[in-house]
Amino acid sequence: MSRRVSGSRSRQNLPERGESAVPEGAIPGIVVRAFGKFFVVHIDDDRELLSTVRGGLKRRQRGTDLVAVGDRVLVTDVGEGEGRIEFVAPRTRALSRLARLTDDVEQVILANPDQALFLFAVSNPEPHPRLLDRFLVMAESRGLPCLIGVNKIDLDLPTADGDSLARSIFGRYEPAYPVHYISAKTGAGLERLRSALSGKITVVAGPSGAGKSSLLNTLDPTRERQVGAISDATGKGRHTTIATVLHRAADSEATYLADTPGIRALSLQGVDPQSLDRLFPEMRPWLGHCRFANCAHLAEPDCAVRRAAAEGMIDRERYESYAALRRGEDTSE
Ligand code: GDP
Ligand code: ZN
Repeated sequence: MSRRVSGSRSRQNLPERGESAVPEGAIPGIVVRAFGKFFVVHIDDDRELLSTVRGGLKRRQRGTDLVAVGDRVLVTDVGEGEGRIEFVAPRTRALSRLARLTDDVEQVILANPDQALFLFAVSNPEPHPRLLDRFLVMAESRGLPCLIGVNKIDLDLPTADGDSLARSIFGRYEPAYPVHYISAKTGAGLERLRSALSGKITVVAGPSGAGKSSLLNTLDPTRERQVGAISDATGKGRHTTIATVLHRAADSEATYLADTPGIRALSLQGVDPQSLDRLFPEMRPWLGHCRFANCAHLAEPDCAVRRAAAEGMIDRERYESYAALRRGEDTSE
């Protein structure tokens, strides 16, 4: 199978060649994996260069990872499948671990994410909506648009009220988020999902067993080969890395899926309880209409949010999830 990857996206924010200290002949690419001082850069003609970073570059940047997975770079092809990163484009945004007080370097889990896909199964394993809510709040707090993937739709069952198990659990998210009912096994729903992913860097996360590997394999059938080849090149086994890996989706232009094991650790670090309500998009129409300006929407009288939840304008479960997080009671992991 041949795949075409357009360079239009990876050239964003890059300087004209020859304009800066970047050598003539440097080519645009994107960092898809990182191994200590080595970075695998995917370049436009669909090759990968195992790259180091130019010495001069190392001195210039402080306070953040110099190069991270997701970065758009200019790289010199030095031959034999190796490269040298000459320039790193400014990041549009980054998913990073907050710096500790004693440490002024943030750890970038993924540079330039465009959106997040949270993947759960209809059953096997049983989905935990509270965990999904935590993922959504984390992404909202970082300004990352969210998609919900409901996998194993082939295991869906009808419910007594004429609906289905999947919709009885995930239908409540539809007012606030695009929900994709899919099956990595049968291929159901994948066309629509593919177009939602097209041309973007999407963070994929979810509980183990939901079908993330199956989905990545379906979207990128060469995944196992890629990971294996690079592990050989660096002498590291494929199971030794827990870092972020970008997978290119086959047959789609500049589409990347980020497998980010570190995302679970981000949790709700840095989320201000006072602004938690804003991170539930379906609550936003009622904010500012409570009696008290600083209403926590828990037990206050004349609360517009609680009234909306009682009337079914805001889904009850979503409201309860908000309330548990606001009280600091949520213990789902
Ligand atoms: P991960 O832990 O999220 O990476 O999950 P895996 O991709 O390893 O999948 C876990 C199990 O679910 C495997 O046995 C898969 O074969 C199975 N699985 C994945 N997707 C589907 C699906 O759409 N339908 C069904 N019935 N099983 C699936
Ligand atoms: Zn209120």
